[in-house]
Amino acid sequence: MSAVPGSSSNSGAAGALVFYSEFDDFAAWREALRARLPSLDIRHASEIANPADIRYALAWKPPAGFFDSMANLRLIINLGAGVDSLVGRTDLPAGIPITRITDPHMARMMAGYVLFATLRYARDIPSFEQAQRRGAWAYRHPRAPEDVRVAVLGLGELGAFAARELRRQGLTVLGWSRSPRQIDGIQCYAGMETLDAVLAQADILVLMLPLTPQTRGLIGRERLLRLPRGAALINVARGALVDQRAMTDLLQAGHLGGATLDVFEREPLPPDDPLWRMENVLITPHLASVAIPSSAAAQIADNISRVDRGEPPLNVVDPGRGY
Ligand code: NDP
Repeated sequence: MSAVPGSSSNSGAAGALVFYSEFDDFAAWREALRARLPSLDIRHASEIANPADIRYALAWKPPAGFFDSMANLRLIINLGAGVDSLVGRTDLPAGIPITRITDPHMARMMAGYVLFATLRYARDIPSFEQAQRRGAWAYRHPRAPEDVRVAVLGLGELGAFAARELRRQGLTVLGWSRSPRQIDGIQCYAGMETLDAVLAQADILVLMLPLTPQTRGLIGRERLLRLPRGAALINVARGALVDQRAMTDLLQAGHLGGATLDVFEREPLPPDDPLWRMENVLITPHLASVAIPSSAAAQIADNISRVDRGEPPLNVVDPGRGY
């Protein structure tokens, strides 16, 4: 591609980048990117005078028609790891690569959440929380870590990192993905035909799958019933992976012992949803991990430079596959 007249291409930053997110801090992203690409013109979506200047879009859930007038767009950078809200859109410009953020710090933050939630169940903390509310000294002998089986569905950037961290705690970790994976110390399974066997062994089920046409509704009532009675569910991926109604019923019935939920079919979770008031449910408002400007900027800057030099970007999303 040709450089914008008057701009320096040796910094790998010709043209302008538009930023859009209702959740992320524009000033922090601008500063982190500017440190790596000093000549890149970085503008918030509200500051765009001429959409033809835009070469790169760094965006999280932009409004419909956002890309329409960006005739010179070369790269769409999804401001996050999950791309389901982007790849399903009908207003994407044809032929423009979409990349996602992969950032070890984002994976570490996610693993921290998953570790917290998993160890809380592995160490029976919810039962001590309940006992404390009764003022009861309710001794319960700790289980050996290896006696607690944790199944991680999804062994991608975030899932594999979390699975390794869980294994480091001595837990028995099973992993499940689409294509076969090998991860030291983790019993890896692949493909739909192995899913029920994985679920049947999961004292704690951790969902780290992308939301795609194949995974939407994957964890329905039948599959939840495959879990051993009293199993705990941790969903840090997307709410629509799970039949929320069935999950709620099974939490009330005790088949599911507990759930830690960061994501929901509808967000924000409506105030009248029964999940809010269930003692065996812990709710957080979709923040298990976030993209961190200071660390993720390196990968974004690298991709911008690659595109500027006419090279293909890395970490490209396959819209057909959905992730
Ligand atoms: P990746 O895209 O790196 O990995 C996805 C994993 O899921 C891969 O192992 C893939 O298999 C597997 N997978 C995909 N489809 C199927 C299928 N049909 N059957 C079996 N396995 C499948 O994702 P990340 O690890 O980076 O992130 C996972 C999800 O976490 C994101 O998509 C996002 O929705 C969510 N997320 C949530 C956040 C939060 O704050 N709550 C923050 C960030 C992300 P294979 O290895 O064979 O490709």
